[in-house]
Amino acid sequence: MDKNALYYQVPYVKEFDAAVTSCEPKDNRYIVELDTHGFYPEGGGQAADLGTIGEASVIDVQEQALKDGAAEEKLADERGNHLVRVLHFVDRPLEVGRTYHCRIDWERRMRNSRNHSGEHIVSGLVHEKYGYNNVGFHMSDVMTIDFDGMLTWEQLMEIETLANQVVLSNRPVKALWPTEEELNTIDYRSKKALSGDVRLVDLGGADLCACCGTHVMTTGEIGIIKILSVLGHKGGVRVELFCGFDALRDYQKKHDQLLNLSRLLSIAPLEIEEALKQLMEQSRQKDYRISEINRRYFELKAESLKNHTGVLVDVEDDMNNVELRKCCDHLMKNTCATVVGVFGLKDVKQSKDSGDAAWNYVIGSGTVDVRSRAKDFNALVNGRGGGQKEMIQGSCVCSYDTLEKAMKEVMR
Ligand SMILES: [Zn+2]
Repeated sequence: MDKNALYYQVPYVKEFDAAVTSCEPKDNRYIVELDTHGFYPEGGGQAADLGTIGEASVIDVQEQALKDGAAEEKLADERGNHLVRVLHFVDRPLEVGRTYHCRIDWERRMRNSRNHSGEHIVSGLVHEKYGYNNVGFHMSDVMTIDFDGMLTWEQLMEIETLANQVVLSNRPVKALWPTEEELNTIDYRSKKALSGDVRLVDLGGADLCACCGTHVMTTGEIGIIKILSVLGHKGGVRVELFCGFDALRDYQKKHDQLLNLSRLLSIAPLEIEEALKQLMEQSRQKDYRISEINRRYFELKAESLKNHTGVLVDVEDDMNNVELRKCCDHLMKNTCATVVGVFGLKDVKQSKDSGDAAWNYVIGSGTVDVRSRAKDFNALVNGRGGGQKEMIQGSCVCSYDTLEKAMKEVMR
């Protein structure tokens, strides 16, 4: 951690001038070091700053701690007492010794800062109220915090309200660099035992935590803090959340979707859940009635074909694959046929006499191994499919006459 870095000393510096102290090619990129550290390097769960150095695009920034040793100390001194190396990965070479104008991708930095500050407030409140620790923190499309204890959705909703109260009270955010003696007297959150310079971030009294990341200057800048989900994770929970514009965009997207659903169903947005439960129940009852009607239909059909022997070819309209299977099963059990083929027209506008048509099929038998005949059958009917030796299913494209002929030839 470089205490003198611009992102610590002058938090909202968006542009600065810096001289290149080294530039080395590596894997189609160039690793550049600057005499001023203004780009935040990845660390503390926070992603690196991006931006430009002159015309070069910054693709990544990584911090490398200097090891002990005279050479390293000399290097540190030469670099203006920087105790770390900050490696800027850029897309083109830069001239050593030349001063360049640097621009930080400010939208990205602020998004990271809002997220990071929001995360501290939530972690601080959870720690204060339940004593659980933040044991993992990730920022990508969505931010996640892992806690080492169980939290219910209701508890988290209470934390969310408290967190947004801290935001709305717009308290100042301060970074402190206490001495070792001072540190011993302060109660703060920390993930690990710390040595050397320790930076404490005070989120307006809502949280005090050792942190190397960037933060907003007042809690109001975070914007809304919205918890999205909670899942069990390694004996504790993983919480997903959005802050600021991420939360706003998420709200806009979900609200638009709710309004579309409301129009589609002609139901007021906040009544959709109840109405959907009723619709699902009605649909379940309908499914039950359809399966009862089908069952009676299969019985009647089997009754009318009960004396049919040999290969039975049956055509059904408007049946899905499950119904075709049930129909085949019924005819296998209740007729004298050795092999039963049930064919359903895929297109309801077509009929048995339409010529070439697309079919779904189910073929079953209690005595003939239909799987071993599937290949020959498919070859004749321009089809594909397979299954078990008692039952195969698939689809084909051919006329009814071809179907019937193939059944009688192959499935004997
Ligand atoms: Zn932090």
